[in-house]
Amino acid sequence: MKLLQPRCYLCDMPIDNQQPFLCLLCQQELPYLAIPHCRSCALPQRKHQQLCNECQELPPRWQHLITCMSYTLECQYLIKQYKFSQQPQLHLLFSQLLSRSISNKVIQHNYSLPNALIAIPLHKKRLAKRGYNQAQLLAQDLAKKLQIPLIAEKQFIRAKNTKAQAQQTATERSHNMHNAFHVSNAITAKHVAIIDDVVTTGETMKAACETLFTAGIERIDIWCIARTLAD
Ligand SMILES: [Zn+2]
Ligand SMILES: [Zn+2]
Repeated sequence: MKLLQPRCYLCDMPIDNQQPFLCLLCQQELPYLAIPHCRSCALPQRKHQQLCNECQELPPRWQHLITCMSYTLECQYLIKQYKFSQQPQLHLLFSQLLSRSISNKVIQHNYSLPNALIAIPLHKKRLAKRGYNQAQLLAQDLAKKLQIPLIAEKQFIRAKNTKAQAQQTATERSHNMHNAFHVSNAITAKHVAIIDDVVTTGETMKAACETLFTAGIERIDIWCIARTLAD
């Protein structure tokens, strides 16, 4: 519970409004992804929109990855508060930042918005424990802000209660995510954006893409709050 005087989530300075959760200085100093980056993996690149060597050689299953921050310590702290410390209200901060990155991409790079949004689902056990799906809250805000339909939660579900990816090897991760997702009803949209909090190795996204392509979706983009800058 926050006390009456709201405080900045990062430096604890008193702030005037409960939103946007950060003082002006901390807002300005967030690790925004300003450097030119590869359009498919968001890793630094000499020119915007250019594919990095890795993505040229082995293109990811998605086309564009849009994110607003790199996963630095400040960003990790905020996202951990959001996911693990019962601070679901932070979706308002993240959706504001992410919608700004998406609008910039539309204006500066002619990015075409998807026909529908879909959130990475949580397994029902994890959802029951946490009480909310952080990706779903974000997707709901973005759907409203950008006026894009949101695919119902029950249509895309997590069939496997997968272990945390961080402590696993690449092979284990890939095996772990195999058949992790399931589409329960037909999805008519052809171009969708998948929404998640952080993209690290991309294994979760790869598995989600496979399932959605099998369900008839033709183009997938990824929208996430943050991206780890080194794999
Ligand atoms: Zn601050
Ligand atoms: Zn790339």
